Amino acid sequence: MNSTELENMIRTILADSLHSKSDAQEPQNAIFGQVGDAIVAAQGAYTRYAAETLKLRAKIIAALREELSPLIGEMSERAAEETGMGNAPDKINKNRAALDNTPGIEDLTTSALTGDGGMVLFELSPFGVIGAIAPSTNPTETIINNTISMLAAGNAVYFSPHPGAKRVSLWLIEKIEGIVYRASGIHNLVVTVAEPTFDATREMMAHPRIALLAVTGGPAIVGMAMTTGKKVIGAGPGNPPVLVDETACPIKAAKDIVDGASFDYNVLCIAEKSVIVVESIADRLIENMQKNGALLISSRADVAKLRQAAITDKGEANKKLVGKSPAVILQAAGLGAPATPRLIIVEVAEDDPLVLVEQLMPLLPIVRVKDFETGLALALLVENNLHHTAIMHSQNVSRLNRAAKLMQTSIFVKNGPSYAGLGIDAEGFTTFTIATPTGEGTTSAHTFARSRRCVLTNGFSIR
Ligand code: NAD
Repeated sequence: MNSTELENMIRTILADSLHSKSDAQEPQNAIFGQVGDAIVAAQGAYTRYAAETLKLRAKIIAALREELSPLIGEMSERAAEETGMGNAPDKINKNRAALDNTPGIEDLTTSALTGDGGMVLFELSPFGVIGAIAPSTNPTETIINNTISMLAAGNAVYFSPHPGAKRVSLWLIEKIEGIVYRASGIHNLVVTVAEPTFDATREMMAHPRIALLAVTGGPAIVGMAMTTGKKVIGAGPGNPPVLVDETACPIKAAKDIVDGASFDYNVLCIAEKSVIVVESIADRLIENMQKNGALLISSRADVAKLRQAAITDKGEANKKLVGKSPAVILQAAGLGAPATPRLIIVEVAEDDPLVLVEQLMPLLPIVRVKDFETGLALALLVENNLHHTAIMHSQNVSRLNRAAKLMQTSIFVKNGPSYAGLGIDAEGFTTFTIATPTGEGTTSAHTFARSRRCVLTNGFSIR
């Protein structure tokens, strides 16, 4: 060992011991008492991170993928238990997709123009500290997905987790911060506060050091972010219809719909929320849905009881039943079931609140229509210009094209379950922040970077 190597070794040992001492004095590098302190710490971390290499960003993401992997089972159990929504086995699939299938730095592509006047580079640079708001419905999935996308783009992140998923979110953010620190030597790149209340979220939104707001949640919080005057990437609610025409394969369509609508008890914003089916295929579709574990409730009185349980007097989804199992929903409606179904299905009229309200529960209304054109018009109405997600089952390519074009949704799934639109059991990358009102669509690292133009005059064109 030469003297430089020896000196480096001593420096490393001293730095480590200093870090472990400061860790002992201030055990929380991820979770702060005050919003402002957390944001200022993240700003300091961002400044250090900005001076680092792309290679370091890739190293951090590789470390996250490796070290969070063994925790997926535990975090899924914790999230299901704490929020009382969804189920752990499906959450394992969602968290796994977020961890393995969220793109890293490869998502940041540079483009260039060259000519007689020189060269222009367009590069994707970080914003700074992003204020990221996560929903209760996919708490850990959104934190993992946002962390990878935002750090890949070179930002630091302040998370506002949902108060209803506080414990699991803080637990995860702390683990993430530790992994990022061990991979990079930089503390505070991912931070939050010990009490993530609505007031804390409000304070974070107004903080001058927050460069960008990325909001994943319901209409109120997305609307609130829009009033701050900051740039907002808003991932709001949806009400995805699934349109089935007479050319569809009823066996595959039925399986896909039950798989998608029952996944994590329908809490996903992209999940099938209503079926609009051409009447000539409706019976075969419903029969096959029953073969795939759906329970058909036919009595008008029982459907009324389910409606009353699921939708409040104000015409909103009953929060107590959001993300609950079909068995719990049946029980709440005072109905029994012979076995535990995967999904409850009911036939209703096109203007039924079960069709028009985003209920986020495994209770799927079905509407019969006379033909494809009537179905498409109804699908447009049900989606309500949210530009979120729509699904269609058909073998008619022209109709698939027409519907995809007219619906104008951020995700349009053809002949598959809704979660295919998230890259789960399908092609494409995974995201849990689908920016609907602000138009970025399925977000990834490049969405959280600003495009900058760098010009060199009279040179670097070698054509
Ligand atoms: P929510 O609106 O209740 O909460 C979202 C976040 O906003 C939480 O962190 C919460 O703390 C915060 N929040 C809510 N009201 C607030 C207020 N008044 N002041 C400060 N902070 C506030 O959403 P949720 O119930 O957790 O999630 C379900 C909704 O989110 C559904 O409408 C669903 O469609 C939507 N969602 C959309 C996407 C998407 O990518 N587009 C993804 C997941 C969920």
